[in-house]
Amino acid sequence: MRSYSRKTFNNINPATGEVVCKCQAGNAKDVELAVKSARSAFKKWKFLPPPVKGEILFRAARLFEERKEKLAKLLTMENGKNLEEGRGEVQEAIDITKYVAGEGRRLLGETTTSELPDKFAMFIREPIGVIGMITPWNFPIAIPAWKIPPALVAGNTIVFKPSSDAPALGIELVKIFEEAGIPKGVLNLVTGSGSSAGEAIARHKGIDHLSFTGSTDVGTHIYVEGAKKLNSVELEMGGKNPEIVLKDANLDLAVDGAIWGAFGTAGQRCTATSRIIVEKPILRKFTEKFLKRVKKIKVGNGLKKGVLTGPIINARQMTKILGYIDNGKKEGAKLLIGGRRLTGKGHKKGFFVSPTVFANVKPGMTIAQEEIFGPVVCIMKAKDFDDAVKIANSVNYGLSWSIYTKDINKALKAMRLAESGIVYINAPTIGAEVHLPFGGVKGTGNGGREAGTEAIKEFTEIKSVFIDYSGRLQRAQIDIG
Ligand code: NDP
Repeated sequence: MRSYSRKTFNNINPATGEVVCKCQAGNAKDVELAVKSARSAFKKWKFLPPPVKGEILFRAARLFEERKEKLAKLLTMENGKNLEEGRGEVQEAIDITKYVAGEGRRLLGETTTSELPDKFAMFIREPIGVIGMITPWNFPIAIPAWKIPPALVAGNTIVFKPSSDAPALGIELVKIFEEAGIPKGVLNLVTGSGSSAGEAIARHKGIDHLSFTGSTDVGTHIYVEGAKKLNSVELEMGGKNPEIVLKDANLDLAVDGAIWGAFGTAGQRCTATSRIIVEKPILRKFTEKFLKRVKKIKVGNGLKKGVLTGPIINARQMTKILGYIDNGKKEGAKLLIGGRRLTGKGHKKGFFVSPTVFANVKPGMTIAQEEIFGPVVCIMKAKDFDDAVKIANSVNYGLSWSIYTKDINKALKAMRLAESGIVYINAPTIGAEVHLPFGGVKGTGNGGREAGTEAIKEFTEIKSVFIDYSGRLQRAQIDIG
């Protein structure tokens, strides 16, 4: 359907500069229409039995499976991450859709006791209404899939805006849900910019709940807009994730984790490893081993075999990353490798930044505090375990945390001391699984979680129900017993 603006925008492949697809530049009028259709569809969709909704989701999961390779290629083309990661991301969408489809036969409430005889008490879960969803470009199918299936199975209708930097997978996802049998009006897609379509979703009074994943700045703004109309708002935002390496760690394993955590998806993950905090006695050895591996990283078009680090999503983001690198140098950090744009063979038409490692990074430096969202990692020295934990927690974000050690006592202490929503022991800062809750604390989130057992909670209201079968007036708190 054409947008009211009659304008389109290009979805650009960040590795080649080629146009992946043209999309409608939706605006407030398109959002208005989408909300209207979602409100109208809600009346019926709400009452369709959840197991029937679940069956539609199972069908969607099968369609994702059938098209996995095609979707993964398209994902790599619009987002840049390598094909292996693209496949992994599509698999994540399959996994969560299946997991949540099963909720159609659960959606559990609770029954409990009553303080009065011949009285039954329980609570049930009900849909919230129309959900406004705004998602980023770095996981163009996984993040919409964390939100859309649970919202649907719970009985909500949706107005969904994917990022204009990578809208193609969002569009494909909506097509698949329609093909699987989601009725017209239940899942409404509006493509367009954040300042136009996104802003209209955040402000629209016909929307009952906002579900946002993206930067902390935009998320904070959306929180305020949602608060003005008393919406519940779920925010999943930035990260500044540490990997701690203690002196007893398996160093090769820690290096493997740091390479994958820092340079996969070119560091453009909310869970990317951006600080490696190493205990002093092994700092030199770790740094040497790590640098040896960084030198071997292949940077390029994610469709090419052997590439680990793909392009940066756009010129603006690349300039921002290079700005952080300059800042790091000015603040006195030691640039060990990388730190520049790549423009040679295979890199001419894209936005490539060489894998960058800084050493001598102090906790107060900007590069140690702010989310860079690129292939840049800081190595930081820690005196001992306590110092490492202190440095790891010294940021305003709290998404993912990792520690490498063979000492079970320190591992378990770290698990409790980590100011984060996710902790990995002897594993990189990335690698969440869909049946566990996902989200962060501090500047990363506002208390909610996605996926796992929490997936349904975000998209449901609770209704308490009392059934009195005594046939007489019974007054709680007064007619006790
Ligand atoms: P942005 O915050 O820039 O954008 C996210 C979405 O918000 C996009 O769809 C964007 O639209 C939209 N948007 C922008 N401005 C507004 C506005 N004024 N009103 C409403 N919507 C708006 O994030 P990025 O897309 O750059 O994604 C990267 C960020 O996402 C990082 O900070 C990363 O850490 C975070 N993230 C967090 C995750 C988590 O689970 N915690 C997971 C993945 C990413 P458009 O871009 O089309 O203009």
